[in-house]
Amino acid sequence: MKKLISIKRDKLIKVSSYVKKFTLPTKVYFPIDKSVKLNINAKKIKKGQKLYDLHNASYYSSVSGELSGLIWKKDETNNPTLYLSIINDFKEEKGKLINHNANYYLTTFCSFLLPTLEILKNQKILYFNAIKDDPYDVSVVAYFKENAESLLETLDFLRNYLHSKEVHIFLKENATECIEALSKFLGMYPFISLVFVPDLYPIGDDSVLEEYLKIPNLKTLKIVDLMYLQAAIINNEPLEETYVTISGDLVDEPCIVKVKIGTLAQELINEIKPCQNLSKVWVNGFFKGHLLDLDEVVITAQISSLIFSKEETKKENPCISCGKCLECCPKNCNPIKGERQNCISCGLCTYICPSHINFKERNTYE
Ligand code: SF4
Ligand code: SF4
Repeated sequence: MKKLISIKRDKLIKVSSYVKKFTLPTKVYFPIDKSVKLNINAKKIKKGQKLYDLHNASYYSSVSGELSGLIWKKDETNNPTLYLSIINDFKEEKGKLINHNANYYLTTFCSFLLPTLEILKNQKILYFNAIKDDPYDVSVVAYFKENAESLLETLDFLRNYLHSKEVHIFLKENATECIEALSKFLGMYPFISLVFVPDLYPIGDDSVLEEYLKIPNLKTLKIVDLMYLQAAIINNEPLEETYVTISGDLVDEPCIVKVKIGTLAQELINEIKPCQNLSKVWVNGFFKGHLLDLDEVVITAQISSLIFSKEETKKENPCISCGKCLECCPKNCNPIKGERQNCISCGLCTYICPSHINFKERNTYE
């Protein structure tokens, strides 16, 4: 296999696993489509109430309040997206809890994950890919520290549910805080073990990991999947909060924020004030992520880091045929010619190019 890369960290970009909370947004926003027919009482929305189904997923409100309207923002990949907004009444009023078993909550709140679970069924080993490739994204540390016991309980439940014999959790060998958090409870779960991989980029991608560990057809559960599954199986509710790393060379106080899904990133930043006058943000890091206007970003479970940096998208220069983009690609693509059939969107070619050619926003150089 191709040699993977050890990323040199920028010392000016500090990260911290100190956790702050912001769970009182004035409004929350959920992606919607004009085709969706809303069949809900606009005046009384309860926390955890189902709003609508869209693209095989159900959306649930993370606050109680009332409907406000529709507004265009961007998603994490910089695509214009329509959002439904809900005004928070801060009452946190929940619907009546009806007692069901964990299977019911799993199939209700994680319906979009059922095809994935079907693929994982009856495999001898259930794999959980807890590798974070981005060097400046530490959100998983807060998630593991606050939820280690119930995360392991969720995995053990899934082991039985999917008829697997064991669970293997993939982690980087230098993910010490995550390893420590899990190790406290691992003794109670004899069928769950940790598997360590080196800190190389982009080893967290399933197809790269498959080659590295020589496990054919590797299929794994991801961190965000576990967050949804744990909320459903252990807490019997839809996922309402997520963890986001706040970092960057413009940030004085890096941290991780526990935040309501649907919160506007601008409101979050106004509240925690990591630094003054922030207007642009790298959503999900320099490698895989995109540079967006801060006031366009809505926090979803798919967003795990907001990086504020002087590093903006640089002016592109002509290609100097250095070949670095071809050399670094872990999937043997040729981004210059647009030959990216196996591309895993790791962002290495854009990151490494001395002419600052941004392959993330285009299909070919020519
Ligand atoms: S083409 Fe670029 S983004 Fe795609 S896998 Fe290769 S290096 Fe990564
Ligand atoms: S890394 Fe940039 S400059 Fe070098 S060959 Fe690739 S596109 Fe051209």
